[in-house]
Amino acid sequence: MSMAAAAGLLVGKAGSASAANSVSEMAPAPTASKIIGLQTYSLGKEFSGDIAAVLKKVKAIGYTDLELAGYNNGKIGQTDLMEFKKMAEAAGLKIVSSHVSYVNPAAKNFFDNVYTKDMIPGALEFWKKTADDHAKLGCTMLVQPMMPTIKSHEDAAVVCDVFNQVGDVVKAAGIPMGFGYHNHNMEFQRVVKPEDAEKAKSGNPFMKVGDQIYDLLLAGTDPSKLFFEMDVYWTVMGQNDPVEYMKKNPTRIKALHIKDRSVLGQSGMMNFEQIFKQMYANGIKHYFVELENMPDGRTQFVGCEESAKYLLKAPFVK
Ligand code: MG
Repeated sequence: MSMAAAAGLLVGKAGSASAANSVSEMAPAPTASKIIGLQTYSLGKEFSGDIAAVLKKVKAIGYTDLELAGYNNGKIGQTDLMEFKKMAEAAGLKIVSSHVSYVNPAAKNFFDNVYTKDMIPGALEFWKKTADDHAKLGCTMLVQPMMPTIKSHEDAAVVCDVFNQVGDVVKAAGIPMGFGYHNHNMEFQRVVKPEDAEKAKSGNPFMKVGDQIYDLLLAGTDPSKLFFEMDVYWTVMGQNDPVEYMKKNPTRIKALHIKDRSVLGQSGMMNFEQIFKQMYANGIKHYFVELENMPDGRTQFVGCEESAKYLLKAPFVK
């Protein structure tokens, strides 16, 4: 317990610029002050049962920050919000962020989730309650992780309008970084204006007709109301370069999902060294490890542990 408390203290000080020198002088191990976030979705079904004990294990393997998933009307999974906060504090973990998606009540499912103007009052009411709850948790940011259905420039414009208004609600609730958007690969699909429809049908897949949805979201939202949490793995899966996006949008992308096909650093398809280099160059302070299902029968917890080890060892992670 005292070791965990001491590590927590170092992490706290490392976060403050004025204390940076004294921390580097006294830090016994180069890895002790690394701030590493975990998206709790990564634990899958293993994030259940004795939550207090699970959180202590998460801290013990090197994570310092949490981004939650599973908020539902005052609860995180099955756990009452304030109970959860107490457990996280007892474990020495900081709740930084939370993923919550809004689905149009008129939608049949997640994949038929077109946003419309008439749903805005209901959406804002939902987000006000959600943001108030997350302000009580002490969250720094609140993030929508799922793309509403966007098949046209008009769909994208309504989504941008909704996101801008939600951004105001989330900031007003006292969440400092406000409202963010997290991508998968579908945001890198293109939508085509009616006048380009024929060109798009020409059959040459290398002829890029139309606009990538991600770019429409960047262009159509107000930087003071919406930031972007870029999932670097899904960006690569969408055949785009997360480093280039960070370079081109230094003030819009304010958080990252650090993710690989499975355990970090194992697939060879992610250039994490360049990603972290650009992350620091942009001054991005928050990132969260995310893990999908482990393909080899090992537990999700082991996958999270192996991913933490990779980052703790990596010389390019400060
Ligand atoms: Mg992600």
